[in-house]
Amino acid sequence: KGSLAVSELAAKLHRESAEIIKKLFLQGVMATKNQELDKDAIELICAEYDVEVEEEVDVDVTDLDNYKIEDKEDDLQERPAVVTIMGHVDHGKTTLLDSIRDTKVTEGEAGGITQHIGAYQIEENGKKITFLDTPGHAAFTSMRSRGAQVTDIAILVVAADDGVMPQTVEAINHAKAAEVPIIIAVNKIDLEGANPDRVMQELTEHGLIPEDWGGDTIFVQLSAKKREGIDDLLEMILLVTEVEELKANPNRPAEGTVIEAQLDKGRGPVATLLVQNGTMHVGDSIVVGHSYGRVRAMVNDLGRRVKTAAPSTPVEITGLNSVPNAGDQFMVFKDEKQARQVGEAKQQRQVEENRSSGARVSLDDLFNQI
Ligand code: GDP
Ligand code: MG
Repeated sequence: KGSLAVSELAAKLHRESAEIIKKLFLQGVMATKNQELDKDAIELICAEYDVEVEEEVDVDVTDLDNYKIEDKEDDLQERPAVVTIMGHVDHGKTTLLDSIRDTKVTEGEAGGITQHIGAYQIEENGKKITFLDTPGHAAFTSMRSRGAQVTDIAILVVAADDGVMPQTVEAINHAKAAEVPIIIAVNKIDLEGANPDRVMQELTEHGLIPEDWGGDTIFVQLSAKKREGIDDLLEMILLVTEVEELKANPNRPAEGTVIEAQLDKGRGPVATLLVQNGTMHVGDSIVVGHSYGRVRAMVNDLGRRVKTAAPSTPVEITGLNSVPNAGDQFMVFKDEKQARQVGEAKQQRQVEENRSSGARVSLDDLFNQI
């Protein structure tokens, strides 16, 4: 026999836990919010609400996929690409990220301070591009292990004096597994020993063949340090973005992925979120991984307070009741009550999973039996 906590049942029925507890009490059952109910008790309560147990209880309330809103084709609009920079250690990833930001974000915009929030956005030829500022491998591994796909385009940095190295190959494999287009940035061409042709040659062995040689892989030669070739790279990113036809619906509640999160002494849980669809607003009721709350304040990558965040925008938020994990999905709920119910159920689920990890029967098994 399966079971379900009071709070989970409440969420499924779109009711407050307190209401369910009261109903149970009137039936002579003393229960707390976290108490597991057996099938009979669940049926008893469901009957009160004229709900068939089979069809209602089948839904996993903690799975945000069950709340996803499908967009109509007509509602979709162009959105900026989200770009991850990958490559072997010391090939120039950090230098490239810094160069792009420094050349494109003017002092005035930033008010002198650029803030590290794990991602930033620039504008090139009137189009925005979002860069993930977290180490490429970490972004791919930790996020993909959670089923999150945040990257639209991978930039593979290869130092022209060093060539293809183990982590270069690893990065290629990550990008291929994620099925994202790869742009090759042959870096450090300012160096004496730079040999871009050798890099191209070596990459053909991994199926990355330059357009000049009859393939379809875009190669850009640059010097991240001397800031040469940055514009070429950005142009290529915009080209690939156009081909990919990246779209989102800005006129709906936001959803997306956690880029990074931590506990701040003064502000409490702080999370950088990448809005992947919809628009987020200050005051939104939000479920983030096993955490939830209302968006108290939003700060953009320039350290500025903002009231809204459109698709592909990274934004740092406060107002959550605990610290989520990088790679966690988030979703805004129009209905504050529902957000709280789903949040509570997810938190509860997390507690259960922690408690029962190592146990033979997983909660998934239990849920499937109901
Ligand atoms: P990461 O490990 O991939 O993040 O590499 P870094 O950005 O930290 O760069 C490693 C070293 O290479 C640093 O000393 C950089 O100054 C240097 N470097 C990066 N890009 C270039 C470049 O275009 N030309 C030259 N000469 N050195 C570079
Ligand atoms: Mg680095």
